[in-house]
Amino acid sequence: MARKLDSINGEAPGGAVKAISNAEAERAFRTILQWIGEDPDRDGLRETPNRLVRSFREYFAGYDEDPEQVLNKTFTEVEGYDEMIVLRGVTFESHCEHHVAPIIGRVWVGYIPDRRVVGISKLARVVEIFSRRLQIQERLTAQIANAVENALKPKGVAVVVKAAHHCMISRGVHKRGSDLVTSRMLGVFRDQPMTRSEFLSLVNADTIE
Ligand SMILES: [Zn+2]
Repeated sequence: MARKLDSINGEAPGGAVKAISNAEAERAFRTILQWIGEDPDRDGLRETPNRLVRSFREYFAGYDEDPEQVLNKTFTEVEGYDEMIVLRGVTFESHCEHHVAPIIGRVWVGYIPDRRVVGISKLARVVEIFSRRLQIQERLTAQIANAVENALKPKGVAVVVKAAHHCMISRGVHKRGSDLVTSRMLGVFRDQPMTRSEFLSLVNADTIE
């Protein structure tokens, strides 16, 4: 998978990323199938390593994209609009970096512009790019907020993420029905309790079931 070094998740990498071919990745999946006790040559499994490679490319497509570029390319200057803009409850699928298990959830992104605004679809795109990397929810939350902050320089940014972690559901402690909630508040959302609670009431209104 071709990757820009500066877009790798987490901390700056210490060395170059080795390019791994699809064929090498398929062989690795084949090895894992054998390791669990399967016969990778039986009919139902013959195409599975290849399918897994294609699935992984999709799950982890976010390494090749730069969210700030998505925002930078498209912002427009608008004088005077200074109301809260909120992307409500956009769904995402990510994978935890500890178990490569799915993290399934929703994200609320709010900001109060300072001249620059972007289309709401670009915010959704940013959520998607960061989700399609190995993640921990806390970092996903911070990355979304920081990207909006850096690209738009708004008066404030708020991000809330609510998600279920399959590493808790299908393995380990086997707990269903519990969500992890994380948030990051910057600028006026951090400094002004009224602004923050206006945003949080939108989030809570969306999640009453
Ligand atoms: Zn996990």
